[in-house]
Amino acid sequence: MPADTSTINPFETARKQIDIVADLLKLNGGTREILKSPKRELTVNFPVRMDDGSYRVFQGHRVQYNMARGPTKGGIRYHPQVTLDEVRALAAWMTWKCAVVNLPYGGGKGGVVCDPKKMSQGELERLTRRYALEIAPLIGPEMDIPAPDVYTDSQTMSWIMDTYSMMKGFSVPGVVTGKPISLGGSEGRGEATGRGCAYVIREAAPHAGVSMKGASVAVQGFGNAGSVTAKLLHDDQGAKIIALSDSRGGITNSAGLDPHKVEAHKAKTGTVLGFPGAKPISNTEILELKCDVLVPAALENQITAKNASKIQAKIVAEAANGPTTPEADEVLFEKKITVLPDILANAGGVTVSYFEWAQDIQGFFWPLAEVNQRLERVMVHSYGEVHRVATERKVHNRTAAYVVAIQRVVDAIKIRGIFP
Ligand code: NAD
Repeated sequence: MPADTSTINPFETARKQIDIVADLLKLNGGTREILKSPKRELTVNFPVRMDDGSYRVFQGHRVQYNMARGPTKGGIRYHPQVTLDEVRALAAWMTWKCAVVNLPYGGGKGGVVCDPKKMSQGELERLTRRYALEIAPLIGPEMDIPAPDVYTDSQTMSWIMDTYSMMKGFSVPGVVTGKPISLGGSEGRGEATGRGCAYVIREAAPHAGVSMKGASVAVQGFGNAGSVTAKLLHDDQGAKIIALSDSRGGITNSAGLDPHKVEAHKAKTGTVLGFPGAKPISNTEILELKCDVLVPAALENQITAKNASKIQAKIVAEAANGPTTPEADEVLFEKKITVLPDILANAGGVTVSYFEWAQDIQGFFWPLAEVNQRLERVMVHSYGEVHRVATERKVHNRTAAYVVAIQRVVDAIKIRGIFP
């Protein structure tokens, strides 16, 4: 990981990005302040009984950034480095992400400061249920709908759904998305982020002078988003996966890696490291590999002013949230690298979350083919909009995506008016 990661405040990054677009859209001071301020924040400190009988107090946050376009939507992250500013930034990005793909949602996010790798299932269940109870006044199908993020999954969402339903006295499947199918989850949700990312890469490739058949691809972060993107680029588009990594480091093979086999290896050993026939590579080196497509799919602040000039990919597709700093963005733009910004490239997850919520509310479920077809339509249309604005305004894709998204949020704020 680049050395300066801890010094970059992600919320400062998020606010800078808003300013750039506010200038472009000539927004007045008041509107700009609304866009730069989280609407509602809750910090909770709560005790959890550990397996050895002791009690530990954990801190969690839930931020509802902006709800002008509808209920807030966004994941819950379990990580030792969660901070309120990180959650604010992620909630702001969710607002723009929902708007850029035109979902009827605002943005929110949650996080708990913990190290899930060092906790048992029982401890994680008790932590999740207590956190769910603490934030219960803020969540609900019409208010704020959490989903999985880093180190949370369909099991976490099931516990939250159950805890919330117990409090209400009836089942409320629409309170969270990313649930298992048996509990009102949607077909296709598990792989939606990677699938959406693969669609956007496919659409952008011809504009970036890349032919996906045989294109070389490096993926930093072989988790949910990264592994699905790698498998679909490999299986459906004929790309060659030349490097993959996880938190322990990466592997590379210029002749190509089979992401299915790497996945099986990771399932057995817990890491991509040691995959037969591959050479080790660090998480810094993987970003600087010569390749056609680089997919950062781990954490934020990976491409910074320090390493941006060393990026050799033709396309950077941000499956992760916030992997590129604004300073690095400028360098990549000058180098004519096509950046597919996070709010567009990883919006497939929230899009199918929206489908899940819509299905739960109707109690009427769609087959996988229908989910994927609708997802493809949303991603293709949204990429088209962003590409059109980028071309018309002669700006990079991130600015274009923000222009599309922020204009939609501003339109909603203006037409609703300021209460009272
Ligand atoms: P995940 O937990 O399934 O995977 C994360 C992966 O990153 C793991 O393989 C982990 O080992 C690796 N990792 C952790 N620290 C790393 C480091 N320092 N260097 C390299 N790799 C590291 O999480 P995920 O759901 O795939 O999320 C990954 C990113 O995608 C996050 O930024 C998340 O916000 C974003 N995202 C996820 C979804 C989704 O639906 N899952 C949707 C939108 C955005």
